[in-house]
Amino acid sequence: MLNLVLFGPPGAGKGTQAEYLIKDFDLNHVSTGDLLRSEIAAETELGLKAKAFMDNGDLVPDEVVIGMIGSKLEANKDAKGFIFDGFPRTVAQAQALDQLLTDHSTSVAAMLSLEVEKEELMKRLLNRGLTSGRSDDQDSSIIENRINNYNEKTAPLKDFYGAQSKLHSIEGQGSIEEIAKRLNDAVKSL
Ligand code: AMP
Repeated sequence: MLNLVLFGPPGAGKGTQAEYLIKDFDLNHVSTGDLLRSEIAAETELGLKAKAFMDNGDLVPDEVVIGMIGSKLEANKDAKGFIFDGFPRTVAQAQALDQLLTDHSTSVAAMLSLEVEKEELMKRLLNRGLTSGRSDDQDSSIIENRINNYNEKTAPLKDFYGAQSKLHSIEGQGSIEEIAKRLNDAVKSL
């Protein structure tokens, strides 16, 4: 299996770029944000639990998202690999992912980290808020909170994967196609 962690702050372009990687390498896309939004839309118990955290731009508790990933892996045992988008977001999640993948006799091949400046992120997210229907993209204080949470709790994962020589930093500014090419080259070089 080829398992990739597509990493970067909110607005870095992970969802957009995941689409290219899925096609290029025939992988399954697992976005915890998308999964959580589906749970909210379906008004499940999990969705109700997650909603307040997401509305504020806070992270949903680790055990909730780890459980969702476990179910995805179980349900797709024959996949060629996975792109994890928006997961892991804490060291505890990264450790749980390692364990889950080990249980399936596989591992993370690489972390692809999209690097984008904060001002550009704010601009992209507010723009996305005009069309995405996502309330967490429409309020600059919630966006700030999401970026702060990223810097505080999620960015340290670069050290986690860096220590395993799995970190690949990718310039996340430029045209969508240029960035897709950089990611494609990075994966081919693995
Ligand atoms: P995203 O679509 O990745 O921007 O995620 C939207 C929101 O979902 C985040 O602001 C968090 O509230 C929640 N979320 C998504 N993925 C995770 C995760 N791995 N851990 C905790 N919360 C998450």
